Amino acid sequence: ATPTALLVGTGRGSQLGILIGGPQVLERTRGVDTIVLDKTGTVTTGSMALRSVTARTDAGVDIDDDAVLRLAAAVEDGSEHPLARAIVEAARARGVDVSGATQFTATPGAGVQAVVDGDVVLVGTVRWLGESWSITVPEAVAVVVDAAEADGGTAVVVARNGAALGVVVVGDTVKPDAADAVRRFVALGLHPVLLTGDNDGVARAVAAEVGIDEVHARATPASKLETVRRLQAEGRSVAMVGDGVNDAAALAAADLGIAMGAGTDAAIAASDITVVSGRLTVVAEAVRLSRATLRTIK
Ligand code: ADP
Ligand code: MG
Repeated sequence: ATPTALLVGTGRGSQLGILIGGPQVLERTRGVDTIVLDKTGTVTTGSMALRSVTARTDAGVDIDDDAVLRLAAAVEDGSEHPLARAIVEAARARGVDVSGATQFTATPGAGVQAVVDGDVVLVGTVRWLGESWSITVPEAVAVVVDAAEADGGTAVVVARNGAALGVVVVGDTVKPDAADAVRRFVALGLHPVLLTGDNDGVARAVAAEVGIDEVHARATPASKLETVRRLQAEGRSVAMVGDGVNDAAALAAADLGIAMGAGTDAAIAASDITVVSGRLTVVAEAVRLSRATLRTIK
């Protein structure tokens, strides 16, 4: 349901920018016992910054870091993903020209592709390059990816015409109110779960920082939906919080879908509640207020 501007708890709800899809939504806030949180843009700020660019230096490849960054940025110029914005911004800041890509395509939760200077350039996960493009990432590149991930970074591989050229690493930070919000979810009787398309290293680092024990990493948009359905099949009533196109199916399937207002239109359209500010403590307040409003009505 598309949220209309119905506000819970009158004054307080409008002050906090909590939009509710309709009165039937209030009923659903009562039963939820599990809250599934998307990571990027939901638990973290989503404003990633470039950490490093590493061109492959092993046999047969002759390319420097700026050239790898240029190819990555040219392709990512077509993407709205926070990771893409970080790459494009960093390239521009270094005076690297990001124009010239055509035939851009994105595979949510996996990577992006485009044609640059007549070459097919891919930027994405090691897994996606392997499974969808049969590109084997050489040891020299895998080592950089593993080190970055162990350090809590998100590493994407840049490939041209079927050959891996290097690694771009971006990093994100946890929202300042995230740990507080998780404590509030638990106090409301909601079991928190972190669900992300990102790698295990990043997922575990973020979960530990905010106090979440149950983590599901390397999720595709389809497996995000599956996770919600599996939890429901286990008898849980699931609230899902997300911001991306990759979360839309899971948000729609959840017993209660909550979109971060700073997120994409697809996420907002698939949700029952929108939290305009994107603040996670306001999500907790939305659940609390909805339940309180329900008690007032009854
Ligand atoms: P999250 O679930 O944390 O919001 P996503 O599902 O959006 O993350 O993305 C999961 C992973 O897919 C990213 O960590 C990245 O490796 C890859 N990915 C997604 N979008 C892009 C992109 N525009 N360019 C390169 N890689 C991408
Ligand atoms: Mg996200």
